[in-house]
Amino acid sequence: MDRYLQIKDNLRNIIEEIEKERLKYSSHQIINLIAVSKYVSYDDIKMLYHAGHRTFGENKIQDLKDKSNILENLPLQWHMIGRIQKNKINQLISIKPYMVQSLDSIDLAKELQIRLEKQNMTLKCLLQVNSSNESTKSGVCIDEAIESYKKILQIAPNIKLEGIMTIAANTDDKKIIESCFKKTKDIFDKLQDSGAKILSCGMSNDYKIAIANGANMLRIGSSIFKK
Ligand SMILES: *Cc1c(COP(=O)(O)O)cnc(C)c1O
Repeated sequence: MDRYLQIKDNLRNIIEEIEKERLKYSSHQIINLIAVSKYVSYDDIKMLYHAGHRTFGENKIQDLKDKSNILENLPLQWHMIGRIQKNKINQLISIKPYMVQSLDSIDLAKELQIRLEKQNMTLKCLLQVNSSNESTKSGVCIDEAIESYKKILQIAPNIKLEGIMTIAANTDDKKIIESCFKKTKDIFDKLQDSGAKILSCGMSNDYKIAIANGANMLRIGSSIFKK
């Protein structure tokens, strides 16, 4: 099949599935879909744009820079979703992404605040929560999430915190995945008073569970770009 038609078809299928799950959860829920383009090149991103999609996510600063530069003539919205090394903060800020979803520590928030203040810039961010408690995953731990969120609001005025992000445990066990999303939703609910609006959970393999547990932002890559 023609690659464009395939991507368009993949997107339509995913949107239909999301819509079904969304209606089961609540017809008032509004869900934002981030197409994770980390495995694909400019061509696929351009095709997805022409199929009607504008919001993309990358997990490496260099790729985010290269792809957003090459595609700068398209009105795309870029999300940084991967681990951020402190020595790459200036590079990240210079790209001016729409949002950083992988703010994973108070230390990183402090560093970001210093550089943002210098540049007289603000940056929308989500606090990443390590809901699976796997040591390979980044993020603040469940028990410290609320306190960390409030602390960042206090010490980093140039960071516009809009909510939280999590990656569930890497397993086929639905109960375990569900437990990750439930814990994260609980934190999200408790942060309503602090202005949290975005709950970013769910990837290709677990987005239905994420929607059933209140996610309003999904990050989906392989299902949208599959061959
Ligand atoms: C790769 C990635 C995704 C998308 O994963 P798929 O399984 O390809 O849908 C979502 N979130 C993060 C943080 C990722 O790194």
